[in-house]
Amino acid sequence: MKTIIEPFRIKSVEPLRRTTTAQRQQYLEQAGYNLFLLDAKDILIDLLTDSGTGAMSSEQWAAMMRGDESYAGSESFFRLKAAVQGLTGFRHVIPTHQGRAAERILFSVMCHPGDVVPNNTHFDTTRANIEFTGARAVDLPLPEAHDTQLHLPFKGNMDVAALERLIESEGREHVPLVMLTVTNNSGGGQPVSLENIRQVRQVTARYGIPFYLDACRFAENAWFIRQRERECALLTPKEIAREMFSLADGCTFSAKKDAFANIGGFLCANDDRLAQQEKDLLILTEGFPTYGGLAGRDLDAIAVGLEEVLDPDYLEYRIVSTAYLGRHIADRGVPIVEPPGGHAIYIDAGRMLPHIPRHQFPAQSLAVELYRHAGIRSVEIGSVMFGEHARHELLRLAIPRRVYTQSHIDYVVEAILEVNELKAELGGYEIVEQPPFLRHFSARFRPLKP
Ligand SMILES: *Cc1c(COP(=O)(O)O)cnc(C)c1O
Repeated sequence: MKTIIEPFRIKSVEPLRRTTTAQRQQYLEQAGYNLFLLDAKDILIDLLTDSGTGAMSSEQWAAMMRGDESYAGSESFFRLKAAVQGLTGFRHVIPTHQGRAAERILFSVMCHPGDVVPNNTHFDTTRANIEFTGARAVDLPLPEAHDTQLHLPFKGNMDVAALERLIESEGREHVPLVMLTVTNNSGGGQPVSLENIRQVRQVTARYGIPFYLDACRFAENAWFIRQRERECALLTPKEIAREMFSLADGCTFSAKKDAFANIGGFLCANDDRLAQQEKDLLILTEGFPTYGGLAGRDLDAIAVGLEEVLDPDYLEYRIVSTAYLGRHIADRGVPIVEPPGGHAIYIDAGRMLPHIPRHQFPAQSLAVELYRHAGIRSVEIGSVMFGEHARHELLRLAIPRRVYTQSHIDYVVEAILEVNELKAELGGYEIVEQPPFLRHFSARFRPLKP
């Protein structure tokens, strides 16, 4: 059989509420045309993020009932620790309430003003937490990756030659660690090859610099490696993931991505002294080291999720269904970041709407129209989010895990193709109100007359 199906059936459902175009126009006006300010109940299909929005399995819900809520030394923690160590091999497992808390603790311990932390592409919270310590966050993606239309199997790779140049020019003592984000979220959800991880390992080992993975989507990345790197074709996703982690000295992780949890994260390290400092800091803001700001039941849900996410049937469905959305719109003329990534499809709104200049926010215009037309929420990743630092004007459609079926995705495809038909009528926007930072969350907009 060639048809790839959702490898699960549905036991518990949540209704979706239909609204009319007139209602949605009214909600848009009330929200100042900012989709973050809409009520979730007014959205039909929510592709704002894949973070914390996944569906848990019956096994995860069952595990939650086993949650041990002891303040210290809970059984739930030991189950999580065993699951994480079985996968990663790291000596120390430090739970946190989500990924950014792991980042804050890691960088507080390792970074000093004037330091530089390279990454293939820093996620926004990673960058912010590094800069908060007075260090600099430097992105070193492949130069070719800036071309949205170029097909490369591992477009998320780090430019290893640029890494060596950076370490030489800054001096090894100013590079406290090197990070690699798998998959490369801000770079379009593109995978990183095992070969690239090995090369980064070699460079960091030569200079004696600790090497950390930002491992949020480790399982999706492992699947891409299995599909695209010949030497790995016969390995299981778990074997590949283990190999990835074995090359690093530690990791940060958001359990809201590839652990199917609605909240949670962890920090891992091999270095005993560092781990002790991290646990000391953890107690200050997150909690005792055996719960780290989470309930015992959350730890159990994460432990089960880490096993489930490596199921080859799940990963095949996940990657194929994301590509299904991408191919069905791209092959009908909607420009996307090629090739489709793991967790999201990014429409190149700058290319799609060349009549709307950057300072009138083409991707915001597309996001608003997709909601008005069909009740779909997406997110602008362009000049609204990054100001003049934006490289592209993208619209991200992030796909929650195990939540929507193929007919939902077919509906999204139809909506995007219909909006593409009327794209010449879309106009730009201006900002009428904005906060001093992270403006995309709360800015208000006004449509400009075409
Ligand atoms: C989501 C994410 C984070 C931060 O995790 P939170 O749980 O949202 O705090 C860090 N890095 C990457 C690549 C992410 O996708």
